[in-house]
Amino acid sequence: MKNILEVRDLHAWYGESHVLHGVDLQVAEGETVTLLGTNGAGKTTTLKSILGLVPKRAGHIHFEGVDLLRLPMHKMASLGLGFVPEDRGIFPGLSVRENLQLPPVHGRAAFTDEELFELFPNLREREHAEGTTLSGGEQQMLAIARPLRSGVRLLMLDEPTEGLAPLIVERIGHVLRILKSKGITILLVEQNFRFAERLADRFYVMQHGRIADSFDAAGLDARRQSLYKLLSL
Ligand code: ATP
Repeated sequence: MKNILEVRDLHAWYGESHVLHGVDLQVAEGETVTLLGTNGAGKTTTLKSILGLVPKRAGHIHFEGVDLLRLPMHKMASLGLGFVPEDRGIFPGLSVRENLQLPPVHGRAAFTDEELFELFPNLREREHAEGTTLSGGEQQMLAIARPLRSGVRLLMLDEPTEGLAPLIVERIGHVLRILKSKGITILLVEQNFRFAERLADRFYVMQHGRIADSFDAAGLDARRQSLYKLLSL
């Protein structure tokens, strides 16, 4: 499979603080890849750097051959790059349906509203409720549904299971497996190792702003103990 995302020698800074020190990672088309690592390792910053959401970055980031360092922000979504931020980013004062309809629809692989409501039945029931009044789990569903409608090819999610009850975590896992079966490429930042290991084809481990290790599902067993230790599980 060809790489849909190629990141090489990525550096990022917040002011004087140099946070990413040459991150290399690739994601092949249709793959689900998980970034693991302790707090502060640079996982969120890696996703944000790919999207141009950090004050300063340098290196190589190519999405389907397009150089993202040279691409204006407003063109990101039209390429099929979707982001589900850690804080979910639900717009206050807008209903569930209005939140869903906010991003413009682009090109391929767009889900219709009907298909989205099939995938997230709770959202159908709450369609006219204000988005910010939903439960944490429902808000997470809404945050995942939003980029799907606009035609995402690479979905990046930052800790989608954080703080959610086990039943909701199950539901999110189910949805992500459906998206994967539809060919959507997924790059997931996740501290919930047990959730990630059931989904991912490959893993990267970040430490101190660098990729410390990478392996596929078959390579996981040999590392299990050291990963439990690193991630304090
Ligand atoms: P977490 O699970 O805690 O989100 P992470 O692996 O996603 O961890 P990042 O959030 O990318 O880590 O943080 C990497 C480093 O950058 C940390 O040292 C953090 O303190 C710092 N950092 C993150 N955001 C900012 C910011 N807006 N301004 C300054 N420093 C920041």
